[in-house]
Amino acid sequence: RGISRYSTAAAVDDPIKSPVQVNYSQLLINGQFVDAVSGKTFTTLDPRTGDVIAHVAEGDSEDVDRAVSAARKAFDEGPWPKMAAYERSKILLKFADLLEKHNDEIAALETWDNGKPYEQAAQIEVPMFTRLFRYYAGWADKIHGLTVPADGAHHVQTLHEPIGVAGQIIPWNFPLLMFAWKVGPALACGNTIVLKTAEQTPLSALYAAKLLHEAGLPSGVLNVISGFGPTAGASLASHMEVDKLAFTGSTDTGKVVLQLAAKSNLKPVTLELGGKSPFIVCEDADVDKAVELAHFALFFNQGQCCCAGSRTYVHEKVYDEFLEKAKARALKRVVGDPFKGGIEQGPQVDSDQFEKILRYIRSGVESGATLETGGERLGTKGYYIQPTVFSNVKDDMLIAKDEIFGPVQSILKFDDLDEVIRRSNASRYGLAAGVFTQNIDTANTLTRALRVGSVWINCFDVFDAAIPFGGYKMSGHGREKGIYSLSNYLQVKAVVTPLKNPAWL
Ligand code: NAD
Repeated sequence: RGISRYSTAAAVDDPIKSPVQVNYSQLLINGQFVDAVSGKTFTTLDPRTGDVIAHVAEGDSEDVDRAVSAARKAFDEGPWPKMAAYERSKILLKFADLLEKHNDEIAALETWDNGKPYEQAAQIEVPMFTRLFRYYAGWADKIHGLTVPADGAHHVQTLHEPIGVAGQIIPWNFPLLMFAWKVGPALACGNTIVLKTAEQTPLSALYAAKLLHEAGLPSGVLNVISGFGPTAGASLASHMEVDKLAFTGSTDTGKVVLQLAAKSNLKPVTLELGGKSPFIVCEDADVDKAVELAHFALFFNQGQCCCAGSRTYVHEKVYDEFLEKAKARALKRVVGDPFKGGIEQGPQVDSDQFEKILRYIRSGVESGATLETGGERLGTKGYYIQPTVFSNVKDDMLIAKDEIFGPVQSILKFDDLDEVIRRSNASRYGLAAGVFTQNIDTANTLTRALRVGSVWINCFDVFDAAIPFGGYKMSGHGREKGIYSLSNYLQVKAVVTPLKNPAWL
C-alpha cells in the first residue's frame, strides 16, 4: 500500500527549514500589538503533532469595536484615502520588497501553522503573495471615473471612491494568499480594513501586517483580529460601522454572514465559498498527463482547496488505464513532515478536518464505492492521511456531492459529452472545472456549457494575480483578483454640473 514508502521518505530526509520564533501573537489595532480586552488567549497548534505553537490573543466583540473605531478614524480623517494614490502604491511596493527579504521566514511560519509543505510555501505561495501586492500597487494610481455623455445640458462625471471600512474574514487553507486577495485591492483603492484571520492559522497575517507597517502603512489602516467565527467574525459581519464585508470560507458560514450583514446595515458582501469541481478527462486525452494533472488538481495543499478537482470524470474508453495509473500515482505520493525536502503532502490542518475527512472515507466505503488505495491515517501523531482513491463513485454518493476538503480522489465514469456536462452541472456548487482534451471543439463546448467561475483547459490551479476568481451558484458572489476585485472596494459617485446656469437660479 506504499505506507512504508511515505514514512521512509519522511524519515530519511533532513529538514530543510525549522519552525521560526513566533514574535507576534497579539491583536494589531491602530498600529499597536495589544492584548484582547478580556485578556483571553487561545492556542494555535502544530498539525504535525498537535502540540501548542503559541498562545494568541482572542479577539471578541469589544476588540472588534476598537479595531473598527481605529479603521473608521483612519478612513474619515486620513491620510490613507486622501493621499496621492502614487504614495499608496509606493508603500505597497516597499511591502513587497520586505516580503521578498523575509520570504523564507514567513513561509516557515505558514508551514508550521498550517502544515503545508515548506517548499510549496517558500517557492509558490509567498512569492505569489508578493506578486499580488505588486500587482495591486500598480492599480493604485490608475483608478479613475468616467466622463458621461448625458443630456446635452449637463456635464457629468463619475468619481470612483473608496467604499470605507472593509471587514474581511478569511479561512485557514491559504492564510497568506487569502490575506493578499482581500487586503491588496482594498488598500490600493484607499480603504481601511479590519481583517479577521482563521482561528487555526493566525500567525502569518500578524507577521505580514507588521511588515506592512514597516513599509509605511499609517496606523489604523489595517487592523488584524485573531479569534473565533461566532464571536469576533460575527461581530465584524454585523458591525454598523463596517461599510463592506468580504468573506472566504464555507457555504454554510457564507449564509450566516450574509444574514448578519443584511440584518445590520445592509453592507455589500462578497463571498468566496466552497466547491465540488469536476475534472473532465476526455476520450482523446494523453492518459499519463491526464493522471498527473488530475492528481495535482485534487491532492495539492492536502486536498484543502476550495476549487479542488474533486469529481474526476473519466471517459469510459480510457477509464481502466486511467484508474490503474491514478492509483499508482497516489501510492507514490510523498507524505511526511512538511519541513523536509521533497514532501508533496503534509498533515491536514487540525483534528476537526482530519476526523471529518476520515468520516467521508468511511461513508464512501459504506455507500459502495471501491477504495482503491489509502483510506487511513498515517502514523500515530499529527493529522496525516493516506492519499486515497475511490473508483466506481456514483453522483448521488456523499463523497461525490459534499466538499471533503482532503486527499480523497473520487473517480467517476462517463461516456458522452452531453452526459458529463449535465452531471458536472448537477451540483449546488459552481466554482471551477478542469477539462483535459486535445480537441478544440470539445474544449470550447465544455467551457461554454459548464456553470462555473473558472475553467482550466489542460492546466489547473493557475492563479496569476490578474486572473479573476469566484463562484457561480452556491460557490459565492463577486470576483476576487484582477481588475474585477477593484469594484468590490469602490463606490461610484455621479457628479452633475449644468453647462449653463439652470433656469431656476
Ligand atoms: P468556515 O466557514 O468555518 O471559516 C472561515 C472563516 O469564517 C474563519 O475565519 C471563521 O472563523 C469564520 N467564521 C466561522 N463562523 C463564523 C460566523 N458565524 N460569523 C462570522 N465568521 C465566521 O470555513 P472553514 O471550514 O474554516 O474553511 C474551509 C472552507 O472555506 C471550505 O468550505 C472552502 O471551500 C472554503 N474556501 C473557499 C475559498 C474560495 O475562494 N472560494 C477559498 C478557501 C476556502
